[in-house]
Order: sequence, then C-alpha cells, then structure tokens
Amino acid sequence: TKEKSLNFIEQIIEEDLKNGLSTNKLRFRFPPEPNGYLHIGHASSICLNFGLGIDYKAPVNLRFDDTNPTKEEQEFVDAIKHDVTWLGYEWDQEVYASDYFQQLYDWAIQLIKDGKAYVDSQTSEEMAIQKGTPTQAGVDSPFRNRTVEENLDLFERMKQGEFSEGEHILRAKIDMASTNMLMRDPIMYRILKASHHRTGNDWCIYPMYDWAHGESDYLEQISHSFCTLEFLPHRELYDWFLDQIIDPTLVRPKQREFARRNLSHTVVSKRKLAQLVQEGHVTGWDDPRMSTISGMRRRGYTPTAIKNFANTIGIAKRDNLIDVSLLEFCVREDLNKIAPRVMAVLDPVKLIITNYPEGQEEWLDAENNPEEEVMTYRKVPFSKELYIERDDFMEAANSKYFRLTLGKEVRLKNAYIIKGEGVVKDENGNITEIHATYDADSRSGSGSEASKRKVKGTIHWVSVPHAVEADIYNYDRLFTHENPDGNKEIDFKEYINPDSLSITKGYLEPSLTTAESGDKFQFQRIGYFCVDKNSTKENLIFNKTVGLRDTWAK
Ligand code: ATP
Ligand code: MG
Ligand code: MG
Repeated sequence: TKEKSLNFIEQIIEEDLKNGLSTNKLRFRFPPEPNGYLHIGHASSICLNFGLGIDYKAPVNLRFDDTNPTKEEQEFVDAIKHDVTWLGYEWDQEVYASDYFQQLYDWAIQLIKDGKAYVDSQTSEEMAIQKGTPTQAGVDSPFRNRTVEENLDLFERMKQGEFSEGEHILRAKIDMASTNMLMRDPIMYRILKASHHRTGNDWCIYPMYDWAHGESDYLEQISHSFCTLEFLPHRELYDWFLDQIIDPTLVRPKQREFARRNLSHTVVSKRKLAQLVQEGHVTGWDDPRMSTISGMRRRGYTPTAIKNFANTIGIAKRDNLIDVSLLEFCVREDLNKIAPRVMAVLDPVKLIITNYPEGQEEWLDAENNPEEEVMTYRKVPFSKELYIERDDFMEAANSKYFRLTLGKEVRLKNAYIIKGEGVVKDENGNITEIHATYDADSRSGSGSEASKRKVKGTIHWVSVPHAVEADIYNYDRLFTHENPDGNKEIDFKEYINPDSLSITKGYLEPSLTTAESGDKFQFQRIGYFCVDKNSTKENLIFNKTVGLRDTWAK
C-alpha cells in the first residue's frame, strides 16, 4: 500500500488487491485512436496509466484503437509513439485493436450461433426511429428473429465484400426496452470499403468501439481499463460483451471512469484541433500555439513540466476547466531550474557609453544559472555601443523608477554601473540614442569598492557590434474565450484570437549563435525562449515559451 493519500482510482485498485487480485495480475493500457496528435488531455491519461504502472510495477500497453480506417493514419501512430516516449514513459507491448480483427470476428460468429447477434438490413434512419427514447421502449427490428443460418450466411457475405456500405450491419441482441439506450441492440460491425493503415484491404467489415475495446482489454489481460466519463453508460455494454466470451479462470478487465481534463483558452479534442490544422488557422499539429504535446514541445515546454501539471491537477470525478496559467506555472518552475540565462534585447534602443574607449571590447564573465549547484560562467562582449530595451529608459522618471534615467545610476548586468547623461532624438521626437557614462572601477565581480556600490536597478544589454539578430515568435492565447468549446450555439472558431502570433526581431548575445533546435534559455528579465525546429545558423528563430511572470489579463 502507498503512503500518500490515494485517489479514487488507486482506491479501486487497492480494494481489488484486498479482495484477492494478485499484484502481478495488474496491467494497464493507454488506448489512443490514431486519428490525430495527442493533446494535453491525453497527457493526463498517459500520466495516470503509466504512473500506475510505475507505482505498482505493472506493465502498461500502448494500444492503438484503430477500428475506423477512414480516420486513422500511420503518421498519427508514429506521432503518438514519439509523444509518449518523449514524456518519458515506456510501454510493455505495442498493440493494435486491428491485431484482434480475426479473433473478434470468430467471437461474433459464436454470438450469432448463441442467438446473441443478428444481421439487420434496415437503413440507419429506420433503426434510429425504432430506438425509442430513454422513457419509451424501442421497437424490435423486423430482422431481429432471423435464423442462425441466415445470420451466419449474411455475415459471412458481408465479410466477403458482397454488399455495399450501409446495406447490412451486425447487431448484438440485447434488450430493446433497456433504460440504457446503448443496450438497445447496439451495432457490432459495419461495412466500410476503406483501406486500413495496417490491414489494408483484408477487411471490409470493421468492429465498433464497444465491441472491440473490452475484448481487446480481455485479450491483453488488462486488469483496469480507465477511460473518461462519457463512457460511463458504456460500462454495462462493456460488461455484457465480456460475459459472452469470458473464461472465468482469466482476469476480467474492469472499466472505470474519470473526468476529462479541459484546459482554458484552448480546445482539447483531436477533431477540433484537426480543423484548426486543415483550415490553416495554425501552421500544423505542432504549431507552438496548439494544445498538442508536439506543439507544447516545440514551444519549449518540458516533459517534467507537463507531468507535474498532470499530477498537480490529479484525477477527478467531475468535468472541469483547468486554467492554463497553472500549466504555465509548472513550465516556469521547471525552466527556472534548467534554462541557462542569457541576455537578449527585444525592443532595442542604442546606448552609447561616451567615456568608453572607441574600438575597445572586453569579454566579461556572466553566470549561466544561479540555480546551478556549481556555478558555471560564459563570456559576454562589452563595447562602447550597446542595445538596451526601449522601456528600460525614461527621460523624466519619478523616484520609483529604478531603470535608466538622466542623472541617475543603474547597473548593466554582468558589467558596469552607468549614469544617464543625455539623449539624441529624431525630427519626430523619438529617442534614437541614449548617452551615458560608466564608472570604470565598478565592473561586476571585480571586488573593487565601486563594484560593491548599491544601485537600485539592474538592466540587461547586448553589445551592438557583437549582437546576433534573430526572429522572435511571440505567442498570445489561441482563443480569446476561456472556454471556446463551452457554448453549443457558437462555433469554437469564432473565438480564435487574430493576434495570437507576432514576429519581431531580437538582438542576442553571441553565445546564442551555436544554439540548436529545442535548446531552451531564459532571456533575462523577459521570459523563457526555445530555439524553433526551423531555426538555422543563418536565420535563428526563437519561440517565446512563457514570460517570467503571469501577466495575462484575467
Ligand atoms: P478526442 O476527442 O480528442 O479524440 P478521445 O477520447 O476520442 O479524445 P482517444 O484517442 O480515444 O481520444 O483517447 C485515448 C485516451 O485518452 C482515452 O482513454 C481517453 O479517455 C483519454 N483522453 C482523451 N481526452 C482526454 C482528456 N481531455 N482528459 C483526460 N483523458 C483524455
Ligand atoms: Mg476514443
Ligand atoms: Mg475521439
């Protein structure tokens, strides 16, 4: 038993162990449908299932729920495997529902022979009318009492491809008066003349989710099959299907439900994310604004941050909306530990140190990360002409302004104390240059009396002749509404933020010329940035991961 307090899923497992299930019979699975890329909601499910695997030293299968060939693709299978691996998890078996098509078919034959399944030859409209309502029993199909021989013959011919889509389906024969609509003779197989990404054209009948899922769990001997709450009414059917085939000496999988995780200011539905991609609202599944795992990776989020987020929100029994600022908090917390500090100026104005010798340069020591146990340093070049941030200077500032102003001192990070002396303006009155003098004895780390002098503010800078130019991709929320998906009357795309991306030029210290795709940095006093996958030595591209502080307007 574990020491920390157990969540309700762990309590279910502990209860089963107490009631005689042996620990070595525990087995879990994560069962994505390969019809899109994984998103932050899936990360919750991955952390839950693989986390249980780690806690209980139990195997976890990666099962592709690939029963709908019209929507599924190898590209998505590959992306899903990459994402799970990147999060740091290892699956036991890589399995596919399509591995079981023959076994499922054989079991379906058995159900027909047992009088538990029949071929229905009505249109879907006719069947929909007969379904009834939750308060009114359904009507039996005129084909419900077909003979076993007729059903076997038709089902076989469905498999052989003799019929076109929609002509016949196979239905389980359960209870047309059940209060659970899903029990009213649910569909087990439909004809789909589509090529499957794994089985090609071997099959033209495909099992429905409910028929495939529980039986796949059983075949893999999954002890606990965790899914999201919308499957709660499916549990009765899951159990009914298992009852038809189960060998009582084997593990009987148990379906249990937890709440779907929704994140504010985004959508977590593969179908909707696919629309954003297909309609060109974003550049692809891995656009850094997307709530996909691949988008977050490209944005600079780390596996640790995503896992910490999933574990912090935990699992719940009720659907709710988690504020994206909590995810960003987790990202900041991890990047603060691991991201090297560098200086970058994103909105530059020139600063001339008037008493610094023309043509001179020096390479100063700069600390890489104050969070490191053993401090490491790099060299940054200093010269007469620097860039500083435009908003780090004010001509006429009050006493609460601790950045650069005229007549007052400020420290240049890793360098000298300077004093504002004057400005040069263009004909419109915009400042084009700031002039300052430096105290040559005040170099940081020199140990001199002047270096220890306290000044109120410290600002960052980059030497103009050494500066490296880069494209900076700044991201805002992809949606202006906190729950774009929350109103059935309004299409979620109405809430797309037209200004979710702005591209600007930044000037970076030269140590960043060797930065490679995926590298993460803290641009001091600004935020965390990550080298984009399209970045090259000639054209550096940085994605803004997150600011240093939560500054979103609430
Ligand atoms: P989508 O609507 O995005 O396609 P899905 O549930 O159909 O989601 P699957 O590929 O079938 O996607 O999901 C694989 C697993 O991840 C399932 O067990 C599912 O319940 C879980 N899952 C999907 N979305 C969420 C979410 N938002 N929060 C928690 N778990 C989720
Ligand atoms: Mg699904
Ligand atoms: Mg889905």
